[in-house]
Amino acid sequence: MSLPASAPPPPPPTPPSPGATAGDLLELIRSGRATTRGELGRVTGLSRTAVSARLTSLVAAGLVLEGEEESATGGRPASTLVLDRDAGLVLAVAVGRSRSQMSVCALDGTELASVSHDQEVGLGPDVLMPVVAGHLARMLADLGRAGDEVRGIGMSLAGTVDRDRGVSVDSPALSGWDGVPLAPYLREVADAPLVVDNDCNVMAASERDGHLIDHDDVLVLKASTGLGLGIVAGGQLVRGHRGAAGELGHVKVPAAAGLPCRCGDTGCLEAVAGGWALVERLRESGREVHHVRDLVAQAVIGHGEARAIVRESGRRVGEALAATVTVLNPRAVVVGGDMAGAFDTFAAGLRDTLFPGTTALAGRDLQVLPATYGERAGLVGCVRLVLDEVLSPRAVDALLARP
Ligand SMILES: [Zn+2]
Repeated sequence: MSLPASAPPPPPPTPPSPGATAGDLLELIRSGRATTRGELGRVTGLSRTAVSARLTSLVAAGLVLEGEEESATGGRPASTLVLDRDAGLVLAVAVGRSRSQMSVCALDGTELASVSHDQEVGLGPDVLMPVVAGHLARMLADLGRAGDEVRGIGMSLAGTVDRDRGVSVDSPALSGWDGVPLAPYLREVADAPLVVDNDCNVMAASERDGHLIDHDDVLVLKASTGLGLGIVAGGQLVRGHRGAAGELGHVKVPAAAGLPCRCGDTGCLEAVAGGWALVERLRESGREVHHVRDLVAQAVIGHGEARAIVRESGRRVGEALAATVTVLNPRAVVVGGDMAGAFDTFAAGLRDTLFPGTTALAGRDLQVLPATYGERAGLVGCVRLVLDEVLSPRAVDALLARP
């Protein structure tokens, strides 16, 4: 039986939310979904007076600027509303195993300064965090900005993180960090809320301004020294019951049977495909390789053995990832981390095993894509994370309610 052909019904109108607060209005302005008084009224269902009252408090708090724009039709110009990007600053700190990146950004996420710091592997927080704080303080001073302008700090760490306590809880990559509160180290630079998250979740957050604009179901693979996944399903980040979702590197695979992993267990995927294991193997055979970035650099300039190793890592990861793809049916696997520096080679290996390992339907529209922000994904994600926290409707309403 076929249905009669007819025009599709019009989409239902956006349901009004008469309870919309000033914080909700800022969210609409910031996302660009409503940038005039009229649009705010239409989207929220609020009366003109109610919109006006809320905007007055946002403008008084210095968060919103109202400017006049020439009307294209020559009619009365409509005022456009924008977030005042200079109403404060946020700081971003992406701590890796051998490198930390830091930045200072305006409230719209525009980067004002950034620095990358190479560090010895295995430094504890007592050594590394004062260095991080020093870099942040120096950048603020160079910009002529003060710590009390900072509204929040976003930070990423390898391994599982307890977001409520702002601590690492299980990080084989960063020994000595578990359970250590990190906010006190940064308090002298800026006494602002610290948001800490796992590096793969942060990489997924960076894709909110990238591949997640078009796709709701994406696996963000960080293939670097370690291996991990940021899982976005139905537009939502999946953290798991204990925040430990996405630990792809420690999935047990037959090829790694009996091989020790840095997590203390044996048989993990990382032991045959993680950057640390590849570097170890090369060094044992007498090669001058200190970091997975050295291996990737050699692969990029066409060194045959390096390319073969990177492709093989992609194959191993594809084998382990196939089950996740079959179960979750993502639209894309996004590849970031140091291995993405040799994206074509790594992705070729990944495709070799990923597609044959999934169901036909899960593989049909599946794309393997490079991370949008490359080496900067950690910083971009940290900024996104902290802005979403400190400019959330709840946080803004709390700010406005302060006497
Ligand atoms: Zn492991």
